[in-house]
Amino acid sequence: MDRKSLDPATLLAHAGGDTRDPHGSIVPPLYPGTTFARDGDYALLTERFSYARSGTPNWEPVERVICELEGGARAFLFSSGLAASNVLFQTLRGGDHALIPDVMYHGMRDWAKDFTEQWGIGLSQYKAGDLDSLAAGIQPGKTRIVWVESPANPSWQVTDISAAAEIAHGAGALCVADSTVATPLLTRPISLGADFVVHSATKYLNGHSDVLGGILVAAESNVLTEKVASLRTGGGAVLGAFEAWLLLRGLRTLDVRVKRACDNAMAIASHFENSSGVEAVLYPGLASHAGHEVACRQMQGGFGAMLSILVDGDANLARKIAGRTRIFRPATSLGGVESLIEHRASVESPDSPVPKNLLRLS
Ligand code: PLP
Repeated sequence: MDRKSLDPATLLAHAGGDTRDPHGSIVPPLYPGTTFARDGDYALLTERFSYARSGTPNWEPVERVICELEGGARAFLFSSGLAASNVLFQTLRGGDHALIPDVMYHGMRDWAKDFTEQWGIGLSQYKAGDLDSLAAGIQPGKTRIVWVESPANPSWQVTDISAAAEIAHGAGALCVADSTVATPLLTRPISLGADFVVHSATKYLNGHSDVLGGILVAAESNVLTEKVASLRTGGGAVLGAFEAWLLLRGLRTLDVRVKRACDNAMAIASHFENSSGVEAVLYPGLASHAGHEVACRQMQGGFGAMLSILVDGDANLARKIAGRTRIFRPATSLGGVESLIEHRASVESPDSPVPKNLLRLS
């Protein structure tokens, strides 16, 4: 069967289903073993597995299906989204430069600031969603990584990935897209020119708020992907077999979860857009959103399930609202089946550009 001809929903629902268990189990078995035996000639029984820090059978169906959905050449599971994101920064040398958006997952921004400062790597920020600002931030001969997060957490600016990739490539830099919020179903950054796509698998890919994981997908298999493989094994930020098994279970329902969550987000955004007590609703699906036009081109099947509301008031009012909702639970993270609300300024660092009256809804 030509798997390329299958709909993403079908690939996902059957992910791992071709694992041939000797007992006929429909669900792929869990292999908790950390070490793998050799035969009488001292050859590994399968060349792929020797020790769990370099690979376990439970990684394979997950890496395969995400790689297929993203149209990549190779995928690497990690112990978290942040571990999957920061491995590319670990390939930089002193004197190199990386360009990141001002609005992005704050944990990655804060980590990148610390890491680059320690190792003599230049780091600057462009205005998320603004290509002129991105182009102006390039340092010819130095910029090695152009980081894009679209939609950007937590105010959901949309960056034109094709244009960003073109600018990055023109400068000899890699374009890396954090596509956690878009998921592989709504946007395929590699088809738009990105060199790497990263996801926090903790979010939609798993979908049940019970696995911390990350995945990096490379457009090409080359010297750099070999380096990523060796940094993963050497750094040891790898996913446990049980987490990979749970992640595969979550992935099987990704398509239905994302569709429903996008519909819900659109309904909630539309409801609040003209409500009293609301200064603005930030959601790429609304025609009023600055990134709506690019989102219409770049996102298929929905605008994502994350939105933010700027309340008509200050941080105290926003926090009070977040603490008193009934169905929405006040908590961080996103992409699980439960509805969450968060006052972002309370968790991001003091230099974050997040508006003090912003409430993020998952
Ligand atoms: N990227 C985005 C957009 C995120 O929202 C997060 C976490 O919230 C991460 C990356 C980091 O992922 P993890 O928490 O799995 O390390």
